[in-house]
Amino acid sequence: MSKINFQITTPERTVYQAPVDSVTLTTEMGEITILPGHIPLVANLVPGEMQIKVAGVTTPYVVTGGFVEVRPKSEVVVLADAAEHVEEIDVKRAEEALKRAKDLMDNVKRDDVKFAEAAALLERSLTRIRVARKKRTQRHL
Ligand code: ATP
Repeated sequence: MSKINFQITTPERTVYQAPVDSVTLTTEMGEITILPGHIPLVANLVPGEMQIKVAGVTTPYVVTGGFVEVRPKSEVVVLADAAEHVEEIDVKRAEEALKRAKDLMDNVKRDDVKFAEAAALLERSLTRIRVARKKRTQRHL
């Protein structure tokens, strides 16, 4: 079966680099699933879940933003702001970040640049918590 030559990198590390069967990503246009032979495209990523499927096993990650490039010959590259395997997500840290974001949003004016930064932190934190919780629920089914 043909595969996608997949790589996801952040400024800090290569998070994953190996052939996969499919990749699902959250773009600003909605969720897309890339299969082998997908037409070339570039899309912006928003905070959301990424799913990598290999040999029937789907592994969730959280990606906080960045972009995806689908190149010819089933080569897919994600340059992410940050990305974590679901098991790497520190829920306590995300909850603390969420609280920090909410406090900031309560205390700065809406047109202050700090408000936009806090709103982005809030979205990243909520996404991390959602992806981590979803995985935990699945494990208990
Ligand atoms: P914080 O304020 O807690 O650092 P943040 O959303 O500002 O949260 P990012 O800028 O998105 O953090 O990420 C900075 C680095 O920390 C990245 O390497 C990211 O993978 C890691 N990281 C951030 N939050 C978490 C978390 N809750 N669990 C695991 N890794 C995290």
